[in-house]
Order: sequence, then C-alpha cells, then structure tokens
Amino acid sequence: GMPPYDEGNIFARILRGEIPANKVHEDEHALAFHDIAPQAPVHVLVIPKGRYVSLADFSAAASPEAMAGFWRAVGLVARQLGLEGPGYRVLTNMGQDAGQEVPHFHVHILGGRPLGAMLV
Ligand code: 5GP
Repeated sequence: GMPPYDEGNIFARILRGEIPANKVHEDEHALAFHDIAPQAPVHVLVIPKGRYVSLADFSAAASPEAMAGFWRAVGLVARQLGLEGPGYRVLTNMGQDAGQEVPHFHVHILGGRPLGAMLV
C-alpha cells in the first residue's frame, strides 16, 4: 500500500513555494504546472491543494467540493492550453505497479500531437 502523506515530497514543496514551478493555473482547489520532463509537446501536471498521496487516497477522502474543483481545473487548463479542439489525454499513476514517483496525487495532461491508441 501507499505510505502516509510525506510533507517533504516535491509537489508539497512546490505548493508551499519552496521550489519553483512553471505554473499555468492556480485556484483554491488546484495548481497546474508544466512537467519538468515533458513526454509530449504539452505535458502539464494538475495537483489538488489538499494532502492526498494518490488517486486511492483522493477518491476516498476528498470532499465533493475538492473533487469538483480539482476536475474543473483539469478541464479548464486543457482548454486554456488550446487542447480542447485537437484533444488530449489525462492519466494518473496510482502506486507501485503504475510507477508513481511523486506521492502527492496528480494527473498528467498530455497533448499537442496525435497520441495514438491507448497505451501501457
Ligand atoms: P508520476 O510517475 O509520479 O506519475 O509522475 C511524476 C512526474 O513529475 C514526472 O512526469 C516527472 O517528470 C515530474 N516531476 C518530477 N519532479 C518534478 C519537479 O520538480 N518539477 C516538475 N515540474 N515536474 C516534476
């Protein structure tokens, strides 16, 4: 299973302003910023402001308002980045088998080129 929330994880540090990020959106529920190692022409991460280790934690523990605010931000960011017309992919890595590296829940928004059929 996942460990308890680690206040020292890199996204917690970005949320606290301790390390920089190339932000594209911020509101009361969510922060979005460019991935430091982009896998597509557009590769943005969206994170909730609450302390959730992964989707398992977020889906079980976040309030309806926090969930709605988070997912609203995901769609808003994709639209603002011009991805709504051509389309885009949203994914999250949950836990060890998915290769989750950062233990603060985040979704990846990927776009800017045709992405092909669903991967693994
Ligand atoms: P995960 O494998 O946990 O789903 O994805 C973590 C993502 O965070 C990776 O795509 C990685 O490039 C990105 N990342 C890791 N550290 C940093 C950082 O310090 N700043 C930014 N902007 N992205 C990071």
